[in-house]
Amino acid sequence: PGQHSSRESCFKKFAYRRKLSGMPCTEADLRRALENEEFYPVFQPMVEIRTGQLAGFEVLARWNCQGQEISPEVFVPAIEYAGLISPMTQVLTRKVFACAALQQSRALLSLNISARQLLDPDMPRRVERLASEFQFPLHRLTLELTESALLDNLDRAAAVAHDLKSLGCRLALDDFGTGYSSLRHVHALPLDEIKVDRSFVESMAVRRESRAIVASVVGLGQGLKLLTVAEGVETQEQAEMLFWMGCDLGQGWFYGHPVPADELPDLLDRRIWP
Ligand code: C2E
Ligand code: CA
Ligand code: CA
Ligand code: CA
Repeated sequence: PGQHSSRESCFKKFAYRRKLSGMPCTEADLRRALENEEFYPVFQPMVEIRTGQLAGFEVLARWNCQGQEISPEVFVPAIEYAGLISPMTQVLTRKVFACAALQQSRALLSLNISARQLLDPDMPRRVERLASEFQFPLHRLTLELTESALLDNLDRAAAVAHDLKSLGCRLALDDFGTGYSSLRHVHALPLDEIKVDRSFVESMAVRRESRAIVASVVGLGQGLKLLTVAEGVETQEQAEMLFWMGCDLGQGWFYGHPVPADELPDLLDRRIWP
């Protein structure tokens, strides 16, 4: 029943936003888009705050539906509702692994996976098969777990997570500090990384409370020997605060916007960020 109602609400949200944006896309469009492999990745740099060096990229899904760009905030919940998130991720992952510029680099890659995917015991095998098809070393791959509150069975998720880790994958907890992502997940899952949610980073320079929250998440990460990543870094001031807090990586417009694959060679050549 829990799963049903969350699917229901995803769908309502989708229908509502579709109406708002005048978007021409239906569930049939999603299926067609998947068959035509219309989903494609963009790449946002993740930078080592201390040195200004590139650490890797987060892969973000994009969809151009009949000439109209649709935000993943809209189509990801819809795709989840339609039960198509796993094939969508596979289309995306293929395009990422096939990218020559990335194959020749040592950059780390972070892929978003939704909670449901971490409950699928066949998922690690699919990741392994794709990686070996493209000879992509899995120690360069981090899976970012989003909306982890939807994990109704943490034991099962932890078992799948351990299988992924034994393949060499790294595991990150996304949006840490929001309702979706909590200490319970940090405790139960074999994590390598936590990402401080953008909402806290955003107001860090103007609100003491946000600053304290970011500092304690970074401290938690350090205590647990996890890599800490701050998302939504937009200003130099925020980057400096994060530096003094000892946060490892920064990601956001201050360092760079997400870019399509053909811009990767230039980014990979760049020495210092921003
Ligand atoms: P997220 O995983 O938290 O990704 C970060 C979002 O913040 C991205 O939005 C990114 O473009 C945006 N962003 C990055 N830097 C800044 C900044 O400095 N300021 C501001 N205001 N925003 C910034 P995007 O690409 O629209 O993605 C939205 C969400 O959709 C993602 O949030 C993620 O939850 C979901 N998503 C995207 N791609 C995938 C995917 O392949 N699979 C799944 N399951 N979810 C995805
Ligand atoms: Ca993410
Ligand atoms: Ca995030
Ligand atoms: Ca987020």
